[in-house]
Amino acid sequence: MDKLKTLSATPRYDDATCAVDGCARPTRTWSRWCTNHARQRHRTGDVNGRILKPRELAPHRELAETFLERRKDHPAVIAAEAWAQALLHDNVRLPERVQEHLSRLRDYEVTPREILVAILSVYGMTAQFPNAFVSVTTRNANLGRVVMKLRPLPQTTSGKTGRRYSVTPPAKVAAALGEVIADEAGLWATSFWRTINAALRNPQDAAGRLKAEAEKLWHEASQAEARLPNPDGWKLTISGAAKWAAMNQQGGPEVDDQDGSEGEP
Ligand SMILES: [Zn+2]
Repeated sequence: MDKLKTLSATPRYDDATCAVDGCARPTRTWSRWCTNHARQRHRTGDVNGRILKPRELAPHRELAETFLERRKDHPAVIAAEAWAQALLHDNVRLPERVQEHLSRLRDYEVTPREILVAILSVYGMTAQFPNAFVSVTTRNANLGRVVMKLRPLPQTTSGKTGRRYSVTPPAKVAAALGEVIADEAGLWATSFWRTINAALRNPQDAAGRLKAEAEKLWHEASQAEARLPNPDGWKLTISGAAKWAAMNQQGGPEVDDQDGSEGEP
């Protein structure tokens, strides 16, 4: 994470550069940041922040769904669902703009379970990658946003083009909800993943999981077109990756054949 340069006490002029280390772009008028970094901060709460993609959260969401269903009679899960229900129905303590989002979710009949799964998908990420978020604010913005996006966001019409578009909550609003979630359910979510990950490390469970994973991989590889996008823009297929690994092994270090090799005739 880049450190921010110290804020200068002198007024900035048009030729000032962005306050993010390594960014040479000019600042926007009356801003410490260039357009890109200012936009990033508005969206994520941090100039280097990121909003996780649904695809990144999906594996954690699936595990959370499975284990919440399996443990739905556990007192901790019952208590958590009661908390999520209260968040939907009794939220006068929250800022008005957050209340509006919660009312919308209530009108769309979001269930407490859905809220818990959304929250757990973010905490599943931090359980796996402790540095998944550059700051607490960005973590909170992700938490709030994943809940707010459980149903279609409010729409508005552009005055210029007349087109309808969804109004994405800015980090300030999303993080206000995320902060309450973290304060009230963060400990529960953290211990949920600690329990689940311990269970997954248990040899019996692990064997079943490995088998399921192997079956899934086999299924994907048999569908020759199963492609995973890659940051560099080229496509990687699972069967292609297996071939590449095999080739790589052949091209690896020479095997020492002092022990009487079976050389070709
Ligand atoms: Zn910048």
